[in-house]
Amino acid sequence: ALTAGIVGLPNVGKSTLFNAITKAGVEAANYPFCTIDPNVGIVEVPDERLQKLTELVTPKKTVPTAFEFTDIAGIVEGASKGEGLGNKFLSHIRDVDAICQVVRCFVDENITHVSGKVDPIDDIEIINLELILADMESVEKRLMRVSKMAKQKEKEAMAEEPVLIKLREAFEDEKPARSVEFTDEEYNLVKGMHLLTIKPMLYVANVAEDEIGNADNNEYVKTVRKFAENDNAQVIVVCAKIEEEMAELEDEEKEMFLEELGIEESGLDQLIKAAYQLLGFATYFTAGVQEVRAWTFRKGMKAPQCAGIIHTDFERGFIRAETVAYEALVEAGSMVAAKEAGKVRLEGKEYVVKDGDVMLFRFNV
Ligand code: GDP
Repeated sequence: ALTAGIVGLPNVGKSTLFNAITKAGVEAANYPFCTIDPNVGIVEVPDERLQKLTELVTPKKTVPTAFEFTDIAGIVEGASKGEGLGNKFLSHIRDVDAICQVVRCFVDENITHVSGKVDPIDDIEIINLELILADMESVEKRLMRVSKMAKQKEKEAMAEEPVLIKLREAFEDEKPARSVEFTDEEYNLVKGMHLLTIKPMLYVANVAEDEIGNADNNEYVKTVRKFAENDNAQVIVVCAKIEEEMAELEDEEKEMFLEELGIEESGLDQLIKAAYQLLGFATYFTAGVQEVRAWTFRKGMKAPQCAGIIHTDFERGFIRAETVAYEALVEAGSMVAAKEAGKVRLEGKEYVVKDGDVMLFRFNV
């Protein structure tokens, strides 16, 4: 399964946030596609549309789609030099599909900061530099080989060499691969290189309890946002400590708590949604009287592949999919009404599924 890794320097609030994730999390047993591992937290993806569909269809049960976070502890300065823990850290990052970097934006004299003072940009740069150095090493190794082959007029090598040089230049400027502009062809080559800094990055600014209601005025948060713009990364703001407390509350209590704090959506829900987007995920629904359910797919997947997420038989025997857009269904008020209004389409094997499609698969067994 695709997963987002949580990283950060020591004492920035990673464990606190990961605790919130596992406390709020769901039983892995209900989600056969998810990994069972103490370092993996499985959460439900909040989606208002699921609630609406439930009201419309009144099924026996409603099942949200799930999403995984992996806790990656142990970044240290010098990780790219490959000493013990550092090496392991980098290989864990290689395994995740997106990176959520927790950044300390709270001041608390009782909690030591590794560099002695709170400075989010400094912190980000320490981690990013380790990733850039690791990528630099892979790119240089590859460049040596590829340059030789390019001299012998090997076509593929000749195409790859300038891309590697472009990457090396970016790394020399301490810029991640994700901030480099590539043509589609170049990007296809880059994808095969398994770079760490090409992975989508989300900065999770961890602010103090009394700052969360007014986070946009927090100077640390402002600097992180500014940094992220140039870095082709995204930012969300949380207070890990509050999230940890809130993770144990019932929905109603949670809403009251959020209101008191003056925020609309919990940081955890924002984190889940942002990471989901970052990974290029989208959601389709099945809406039967037994079960209304949300399913995660990757943008660009076609109908048979999407059917295969439910069951491999659905993909193998795929005939067609009765499809209606979520908005059209809600507007019509019921599946029958949507059909009468001609809003339900029959889609075939080549149909690229859209976020919000409500689908019923027809298949041969
Ligand atoms: P990690 O080393 O990055 O995993 O950091 P921890 O999650 O263990 O947090 C380090 C310390 O900072 C703990 O004592 C936490 O209670 C505290 N902490 C984490 N998040 C917050 C926060 O939002 N506000 C405050 N005041 N303390 C926090």
